[in-house]
Amino acid sequence: MLRPLFQRWRQYREQRLLARHAIPDTLWQLTLLRYPFIGQRSADDLAELRRLCSLFLASKEFHGAGGFEVTDEIAVYVAAQACLPILKLGLQWYDGFVGIVMHEGQVVVPREEMDEDGVVHAYEDSFSGEAMPGGPLVLAWSEVSPEAHEERLEGFDPVYSVVIHEFAHVIDMRDGTLNAAPALSTRDAQADWQATLQAEWEWFYQQVDAGYATVIDPYGADALDEFFAVAVEAFFVAPRGLKQEQPQLYRILRDFFRQDPAGL
Ligand SMILES: [Zn+2]
Repeated sequence: MLRPLFQRWRQYREQRLLARHAIPDTLWQLTLLRYPFIGQRSADDLAELRRLCSLFLASKEFHGAGGFEVTDEIAVYVAAQACLPILKLGLQWYDGFVGIVMHEGQVVVPREEMDEDGVVHAYEDSFSGEAMPGGPLVLAWSEVSPEAHEERLEGFDPVYSVVIHEFAHVIDMRDGTLNAAPALSTRDAQADWQATLQAEWEWFYQQVDAGYATVIDPYGADALDEFFAVAVEAFFVAPRGLKQEQPQLYRILRDFFRQDPAGL
């Protein structure tokens, strides 16, 4: 007798959260227009995405760094990209963190490195996003904005979404380790995943080393966990290109995310 009551309570609570964090129509339409890889999804996908976005906005906390103001528009742009990968998996994949820190531009951090002769070199490192266990997640608005996406498209640069990239790391880290292997349901699926991802990565970095253009960002040649993150970007932003170039990689991502964006 308790269970139905609990379920009803949960439904009631979700309805209240959805009502309180409803995304206005004009802002939602603008988001779909400005990020065409989201806008091209089916009506069913978009309805579910909009629901997840409201729940995401209800459960995460945005902070602007250095006086940067996170407007409703910015929060929805981030939420829509962040929720696309977990559309069929559920928001619990993001339970491990709450805070999202937004910087206006790239984040510059001072670093020091000692060379073979023991000389310490100081330099500045900059990044457009960072995900760490337990959070917060860090994002640079200058790289996340629709204008940044449009510029990259016009320049025929590799596909990208900094938001999807960082949330791919969150998905990877959910089982406690950043190892390009998100939690999979069976041992067979895990073995297939590891063998396929490794083979696809080797093919990919050979292409990059040889100077060939790739659908996936060449940054993925650096390490397997980065390859996973940039492959996830390509899977959602340019699925047809990825399916054509690396069909086996596309297959394991399709099975894991339970989405087939190239087949839309
Ligand atoms: Zn990364």
